[in-house]
Amino acid sequence: MKSIILLGGPGVGKGTLADFLKKQTDYIHVSTGDMLRAAIQSGSPVGLEAKSFMETGRLVPDSVVLRIVEERISQDSTGARFMFDGFPRTIEQAEGLDAIFKRLGGSLNHVFNLVVERPVLLRRLTGRRVCKTCGAVYHVTSRPPKQEGVCDVDAGELYQRTDDSEATILNRLEVYEKQTVPLISFYRKKGLLRDIDAGGKAEETDALVLKVLTA
Ligand code: AMP
Repeated sequence: MKSIILLGGPGVGKGTLADFLKKQTDYIHVSTGDMLRAAIQSGSPVGLEAKSFMETGRLVPDSVVLRIVEERISQDSTGARFMFDGFPRTIEQAEGLDAIFKRLGGSLNHVFNLVVERPVLLRRLTGRRVCKTCGAVYHVTSRPPKQEGVCDVDAGELYQRTDDSEATILNRLEVYEKQTVPLISFYRKKGLLRDIDAGGKAEETDALVLKVLTA
């Protein structure tokens, strides 16, 4: 079975698209950001190692990320299909993923490159709110919950990620340009890249991606 990657800078809507695809398909959602935040909350060794990188918007070392991804993939049967969200973020991680697939079985089918203009990204990130318990993503103006500060899905408390402050956002965008953008040509050369205009409404992005997956 073949897996997919949701590629794009902070704020392009990878998490929102993943929420939709989880409901519509059988892809297993693997978000390294969510896994690392959970590790920090539980106070595990991985969490302790990742904390300072995440708080300043820098990338967590490739070796740490590849370890948690391999652990996660090995929990499912070889037939499982994964949807990677926020991973890989460097060429080293992309090569590491190839090596993991060689060891455990699996391959990639599509890499969705979500494209959004910078001013839109900044607006999205500063207004983003996330459910503390289930991770559902909201926006104060474009995707508000029914009741302010409360998750529609499980009534969990909504919070603003500490790395969604303006200074950290600028740093994350710079890190994306330098370290993750090279993945676009890496996957284009392999014939796996699908450019998706993700600057409109979430439903429009959802439909574009679903069309490719069901073609
Ligand atoms: P995200 O939730 O994907 O925006 O990730 C939040 C933060 O977690 C990033 O700014 C990084 O510090 C860290 N992170 C998440 N995924 C990765 C990854 N694949 N490689 C390195 N760091 C990551």
